[in-house]
Amino acid sequence: MSKKTILVVEDEEDIQQLVAFHLIKEGFFVLCADHGNECLEKFQAEQVDLIIMDLMLPGKDGLELCKIIRDHPRGKNVPIIMLTAKSEENDIIEGLEAGADDYITKPFSPKVLVARVKAQLRRAKKAASDKSRLLLPMKLQIDLDLHQASLDGKKLELTVSEFNILKFLAQHPDRVFSRQQIIDEIRGDGYEVTARAVDVQVHGLRKKLGKAGQLIETVRGVGYCFRAKVS
Ligand code: CA
Repeated sequence: MSKKTILVVEDEEDIQQLVAFHLIKEGFFVLCADHGNECLEKFQAEQVDLIIMDLMLPGKDGLELCKIIRDHPRGKNVPIIMLTAKSEENDIIEGLEAGADDYITKPFSPKVLVARVKAQLRRAKKAASDKSRLLLPMKLQIDLDLHQASLDGKKLELTVSEFNILKFLAQHPDRVFSRQQIIDEIRGDGYEVTARAVDVQVHGLRKKLGKAGQLIETVRGVGYCFRAKVS
């Protein structure tokens, strides 16, 4: 696994150094910022995997920064841990509402800090992989990144068109699509697609899916539909 980059935003130098020290010791790559603008500059310039942010900062405070980062295209899923000297509930709630994932109050134990960082990185990794995977009924799974489908953990040998039809239908469960809509979706595979060809592909796909083939329902006179539940 490549080194994860953590951005530490803290204006109190001794705390910044303490946090950085413990993270580096754990094998993380650490960037530091003393104030809001520096935080945003570094966030935009580097691929940051997690941010530890003090709430009270000169210039833009942690709450403001949190909101700006959440609005950034790359900042939606970056875990943010708020570091705050205050333990008042209101500050914590405000921080979480501004988009922070977790918080730690000062003084804090470096061990706890490192544990929270690791927990957030695990959560972010899981969220990213959940997003690229469609978990379907009857142990059918589609990995959108790898362009692979599997049944009961076994990889299915699908043609490109079969895979694309399955993916398209499964991404819109319980919605009926005409053959033409399916053709429009899988066109570009390098050959002319006809309505008859869609039927042939679906037929082949169902055979490979075995029992799970029943998830793809023929809607008479119309087209096909992926059923999210087997009736
Ligand atoms: Ca501070």
